[in-house]
Amino acid sequence: MITVFFGPPGSGKGTQASVVAARMNVPHVSTGQILRAEVEQGSALGIEAEPLMAGGNLVPDDLIVRVIEKRLSEPDAAGGAILDGFPRTVPQAEALDAMLRRRGWAVNAVVALDVPEDVLLQRILQRGETEGRSDDSAEAFEQRIQIYRADTAPVHDYYVGQGVRVCHVNGVGTVDDVSQRIAGLLKPAANGVDDGDAKGVGVA
Ligand code: AMP
Repeated sequence: MITVFFGPPGSGKGTQASVVAARMNVPHVSTGQILRAEVEQGSALGIEAEPLMAGGNLVPDDLIVRVIEKRLSEPDAAGGAILDGFPRTVPQAEALDAMLRRRGWAVNAVVALDVPEDVLLQRILQRGETEGRSDDSAEAFEQRIQIYRADTAPVHDYYVGQGVRVCHVNGVGTVDDVSQRIAGLLKPAANGVDDGDAKGVGVA
């Protein structure tokens, strides 16, 4: 079971992916977190990724695809994973599909968090103050949102085109509000029943 959490920077993907992963007992795989750990360790990957991340740019597709392939091969991901921050480009989504096909898997659902841009910027600036992430500045946000529009937003249409269930969730509200909306959406899906009319959610 592979669920992709999708949305612009600051939409709450990481927070919500971690809540859902704990509930479903599958690992929460965040490529941003993996890269930040590599930067911390000073590995070759971290050294390559650091300036790109700090400027709000993406690391190259082939590099991040290798990262995710390695992570999904670990034993705790044998039953699936919640992906957060990957795929971020259509070539990454295609590579993920090919990788999953080889295992007889597929992307089961995409949870797309919808948050207006002014709220995103406020959240990013707040997170910059509390967590000290170097890419949580107004300048890096501008670059990240532009990259999101140009490279990542098309991933949404890619999945719609592939017939994957893309569930839109209103990402404004408390962590609990949003996670309850997501739970309401994903729970019936596990029984094969669609609940796109539930409050705050909808299926593209
Ligand atoms: P995140 O924590 O998901 O916001 O990711 C932080 C940064 O890590 C991004 O701004 C990119 O520089 C890099 N990154 C994370 N995931 C990817 C990805 N799938 N493709 C390319 N770069 C990524």
